[in-house]
Amino acid sequence: MNASARLKELMNAHFAGVDRAARERTAPVAWCTSVGPVELLRALGYEVFFPENHGAMLGASRVANEVMGRAHALGYSPEICSYLTSDIGSYLLKKTPLQRHGLSGAPRADVLVYSTNQCREVRDWFEFYAREWNVPVVGVTSFRDIGEVETHHVDAIVRQLEALVPTLESVAGRRLDAARLEEAVGLSRTCSELWGSCLRAGASRPAPMTFFDGTIHMGPAVVLRGTREACDYYRLLDAELRERVRAGVGALPRERFRIYWDGMPVWGRLRDLAALFARLETSVVASTYCNSWIFDALDPADPLPSMARASLELFIARAEGPKERYLEARIEEFSVDGVIFHDSRTCPNNSNARFGMPQRLRKATGTPVLVIDGDLNDLRCYSDEQARTNIEGFVEQLEGAPPRATA
Ligand code: SF4
Repeated sequence: MNASARLKELMNAHFAGVDRAARERTAPVAWCTSVGPVELLRALGYEVFFPENHGAMLGASRVANEVMGRAHALGYSPEICSYLTSDIGSYLLKKTPLQRHGLSGAPRADVLVYSTNQCREVRDWFEFYAREWNVPVVGVTSFRDIGEVETHHVDAIVRQLEALVPTLESVAGRRLDAARLEEAVGLSRTCSELWGSCLRAGASRPAPMTFFDGTIHMGPAVVLRGTREACDYYRLLDAELRERVRAGVGALPRERFRIYWDGMPVWGRLRDLAALFARLETSVVASTYCNSWIFDALDPADPLPSMARASLELFIARAEGPKERYLEARIEEFSVDGVIFHDSRTCPNNSNARFGMPQRLRKATGTPVLVIDGDLNDLRCYSDEQARTNIEGFVEQLEGAPPRATA
């Protein structure tokens, strides 16, 4: 993708910016969870670092497996989030792929801001650093397993967001300006719409981008949400994808089958899995993971309530019923031939294969499903041989299935 060069520049500038702020004290630095209330931080002038992005880098570079043991030795179980254990191990051993971006390590925070809309682990993760650096940790304790998002849910989160403001103002040394918050929410909304448009290009046949490309191109939607730079990037990427669709250029030379991926990426095996699917002429055209940075509810005219609603509507925060309806809709939208559930050992929050969902989905839609065991970062939980055999067998099974209608 031509946009990749710009992506690299943008991510480098992001890391350099937050590192400079931490070293030279040019701006306050906050750590924020990946679907946390970043718009408040942008409005208050923080440079923002997202440790889950660092966790993914540790996984993709496979440094994770060299450093996690250090966190396990400290009492963090090998069964809990391997982003958490990779990141803390990386900090303690001073070993990080951020060094390739010119940073000596993750930038030190002045404040740590979480939302447990995705999991409780993020709070425990941030509390480690709060103790380490003696800095405030604040956040939103959110609802989980939500059926319908109701007004009382939204009101409760708004009150918690309001309660964050005094601490965030005190650390930043400035008052929250309503116009700046509206602007940040507006930019997040635009970023979300543009990223959503890029991902919807995958509904075309052939798909111009796969899940594996998406996990790289989603960087700005995670770490630069609420900035103009992220919006400009997705305008560029969206235009390139539209042009590929117009010209009939697919991500693979030939696309025989189309797959939906549910669950976390296996970061240390992205390249291998992309090559395997390419060899099988099977395009992974959409995923729950990449879609998780689309926030339809954000509304600059109603900043805090819309931020609250967006955080509650997240797939990961929902009960099985809404999740199933969501997946059924994506199967239709992307004309997929099969669904792969990645049961990620250390992230039950992002694994949807443990309460019968694949079986119910297959029954409701007639779509073949496959569950593969693995992990986001801990490669001891992933067998190359078993994953390859299962995926090859699954694609063989698709060969015998009746073809789906073209999107
Ligand atoms: S959602 Fe999963 S991968 Fe992400 S921080 Fe929580 S436990 Fe870790």
